[in-house]
Formats: sequence, C-alpha cells, structure tokens
Amino acid sequence: MHDILMKFKCAAVFVFLAVFLINIKITMSRSGNLVIPEKKTINKKIYTYIAENNMIAKQGKYANIYYEKVDEQYSDMILDMADLYYPIISSEMNHKISDEKIDIVIYNSKKKFADILLIDEKNSPMGAYYGGFINILNPESWIEKDEDIIERFMNEGPVVHEITHLVLDKKLKGNYDLWFSEGVALYFEKRLTGFEWRKDLSRSADKITYKDLKENFLEIDESLAYRKSYELIDKIGYERLLKILDEIQKGKTCDEFFETL
Ligand SMILES: [Zn+2]
Repeated sequence: MHDILMKFKCAAVFVFLAVFLINIKITMSRSGNLVIPEKKTINKKIYTYIAENNMIAKQGKYANIYYEKVDEQYSDMILDMADLYYPIISSEMNHKISDEKIDIVIYNSKKKFADILLIDEKNSPMGAYYGGFINILNPESWIEKDEDIIERFMNEGPVVHEITHLVLDKKLKGNYDLWFSEGVALYFEKRLTGFEWRKDLSRSADKITYKDLKENFLEIDESLAYRKSYELIDKIGYERLLKILDEIQKGKTCDEFFETL
C-alpha cells in the first residue's frame, strides 16, 4: 500500500497549482445546495470533475467533502477525520486556521484519480494534496475486501498525510523543498497515528545524503528518499521542527537547518 504512496510525485502538485489559478463557483445539486467557495488556488479541472459527476456535497465543521453516491458509506468517516485532524495539525504546526473550509474529493477508481492528477495509474497513491483539494482514493481501491476496511483506512490511510501537506503549504506559502514536505507529512503521520512508514529501510536510507534529497528527490530511489526525509525530520524532533517552521515562514530556507545533519 505504501509502495503506492511513495510512488506519488508531489512535485506535480505545486506545478499545476500555478497553472490553474482561477475563480469560479459551482453549485452542487443536492438538497441544500452547496457552493464551493471562491478560492484562487483551486484547480478548474477538479471543479469540473465534481460538477460533471454530479457529486454530493457535505459540510463538516472545518471541511467540505464531495463524493459520488457509491462512496456515501465512506464520506462521514473521511469528513470526521478531516474535522478531527485539520485543527490538530494546524495547532501542532502553530498555524492559525482561517474561516475557509478545506475541500476533499473522493475518487472511486484509480483511473479517474490518475487522470485528474496526471499520474501513472499503476503507481497511483492513496491520496494527494493537489490543486488546492485533498484528493482521496476510496478505501476499496487499495484495501482488500476481506480486511477491516474502516480500521485499516483510519490507521494507515492518507488523510493525516495529505492534510499535513496542505497545512504546511498554507503556513509556508510554497517556500520549502519537496523532500521537506514529504518528511514532515510522514513525521506527522507517525506522531498522530503511530504509523511509521517503511521502518525496514532505516539502514539502507543511510546512504542517501541531504544533497540527494535537495537536488535529486525525484530521481533517486523513491522509498529511500521518503524514508530519509522522514528520518531527517524525526532526528531534529518536534520542538526544533516547530522553530524551523517559524523561521522558514519568516523567509529562511531549509538549507541552513539540515545541510549539516
Ligand atoms: Zn506526500
């Protein structure tokens, strides 16, 4: 499952964020129509996807979720997780939540998911922060039917990871490296859910250097790159990470904190 996650190349997220800056509104057809608020950072393609599939919209306290009827059974669970973790992660990162709700879309096929995110279907991740949305592949797409789908999704699913990417992006406004975002997302997954990604790679990741992460994140072995990113963040620990986040927010770069590790 995490082989899928690690194959996702988050670089695409930021590239396409820049490409699809728009302001449009779409009204959802459902009892109590819901309008996606105007946001400059939201992707037109995902808006269109939501509208064309007549997605149902539901509002939580901090999040809106959009899904097709077939995914109704997962909508409350994912919305509840977002309502739970979004304020926690924001608070943990010392980032003030705005009134604007975050937007989540559930996809029920790897093909649709890959088409929207412009990735290889075979290497599809379980989730992606892309185009201003938290995009989530429905649990059935990656969890076997004979497993406890809800439990597995809550313990190992992508919600905490992707919300961490979103909060980090809001806090630092894009001023960070890809490895840093992945390391922080994996670190918060471990911190908040206890799930540690690919502990078995700990030794092999030793051969990856900071320079590798910084300059060749997408070219080096993906599993090792993710693992090393996690380990660098884990090494500095939460208190120092918090200070570093505030320093980067003020304009410093990752380099001066991690180059010597
Ligand atoms: Zn990620």
